[in-house]
Formats: sequence, C-alpha cells, structure tokens
Amino acid sequence: MTPLFDAHNHLHDARLAPHLEVIVSAMRETGIERCVVNGTSQDDWPQVADLAKRFPGFVQPSFGLHPWKLDARGSNWLTTLRGHLDNFPHSGLGECGLDRWIQHPNFAAQEDVFLTQLALATERNLPLSIHCLQAWGPLLTCLRGNPRPARGFLLHSFGGSAELVTELAPLGAYFSFSGQFLHSRKEIVRAAFRKVPADRLLLETDAPDMLPPAPHRTHPLADSEGIPLNHPANLGALLNGLAETRDCGGDALAAILADNFKNFFGS
Ligand SMILES: [Zn+2]
Repeated sequence: MTPLFDAHNHLHDARLAPHLEVIVSAMRETGIERCVVNGTSQDDWPQVADLAKRFPGFVQPSFGLHPWKLDARGSNWLTTLRGHLDNFPHSGLGECGLDRWIQHPNFAAQEDVFLTQLALATERNLPLSIHCLQAWGPLLTCLRGNPRPARGFLLHSFGGSAELVTELAPLGAYFSFSGQFLHSRKEIVRAAFRKVPADRLLLETDAPDMLPPAPHRTHPLADSEGIPLNHPANLGALLNGLAETRDCGGDALAAILADNFKNFFGS
C-alpha cells in the first residue's frame, strides 16, 4: 500500500491531547507515514515543537501566525518564529494567510503580517501553508506583487473556484483537499479540484476540525462534551473521496499525492 501523507493538521490541539498515543497508533495503522502539524500563534508553537521531538520523522512541524491570532502576538513574534524555524530545519512556515470571513478582521494588520511571513518563507525557501477565506483578490495581489518561495506554496483546504485554480497554479500553488468538501453542498469546490493539475494536488485532514460527512468518518472521535471531532486517521477515507471526485483510482492517486508531498515538503 502506498503510504499516506497529511499535508495539514493540528495534532497538538488540546482536544486531541488526552488520546494522543492511541490517535498516532491509529494513524500509523492507516498507513500515514508523515503529517505536517501547523502552529497558529506564539502560544502553540512550543507544543508543535514538543510533538516534533516526540515523534521525529512522523511529525513535520510548521510554525506560523494565523490571521485569527493576530491580537495575541507579542512585539517579539517574528524573532520567536525565526527561532523555531532555526531549531527545526525541515519545518514549514504556516499556517498564515488572509481572512475577511471573521468579524472585525483588521485587514491592514493581516496583510502586513502575511507579507512578512511570505518574505521569510521566500528567503529560506520554506514550504509555506496559506489559509485564505473571502480574500482571494488581496491574496493574488500579494502573491503576484512579491517574490515567492522557489518550491511553491500551499493553499490549505482550498475553497476557491475553478477560475482561481487557473490563476494560482502558474504562480506555484499547491491545493489541498479536506473532508468538508465531501459534503453534498460543496460541489463547486469539488469541481475546482477536478481542474487542479495532478502534480499540484495534496490531501489533508485539518484535524481535529473540518469534519467529513458520516461515510468518511472511519475513526469516530469526540471531545469531552461529546462534540464530534475529525480524527486524523480519517485521511484514508478522504483519499477515497478525492479519488471519487476526480474519477480516478485510489492507489494511483495515493502515489501521485506521495510524490507531490515529498516534492513540496521535502523527502
Ligand atoms: Zn488548519
């Protein structure tokens, strides 16, 4: 069986912590060889670093300042970020990005912080993981108007249109598919993923969030209040969902995704 790679999750999330050993065993049993664990603020970067040390080779850390976490940043955030990147030479930069979906987005500060991280990822040629909600125009302006990492960049849980795929792919974009896109109401996003060039496709859980619809929840999980969570080992079921979406075989798709993952995140 071709190994699986989760291009984006939050394995350090406090909701997963009580079951972490069992979760990681289930991931390995499913065939997951590596996952990229994304920090979102100064508060959670140390937990991502701890996981990378605890599961070397299995957890690839990524450190970034998420647009929802801007208010929590200290004046030393960039120095702290550089320090984590120095400590883990194979780390990614992210999750970062632009978001006009949240209330009171403080968009000028978002753009400033994103451009700083784009420049850092470019300077070091790091795998950059971008979150974008309702901000595609400004994101395109940022990407077109500035140097970009030579290896490209990832639009994680890409929820844009087929037209955006054709604008972003020539700039170096990879596009990762997540479980929420398997809900029946998400046909526009699935249509966009049929247009993604095969060598730019990636797959992610975004666990514990982005819960897929019931048939794709092979590994049930809930928080302490019984609210369902997305188990990171659901990745295999998401592979089948993406194969159905693109009308291709699961094994062939897994091989393509493995190559793409290693090209972008390093082998
Ligand atoms: Zn995420």
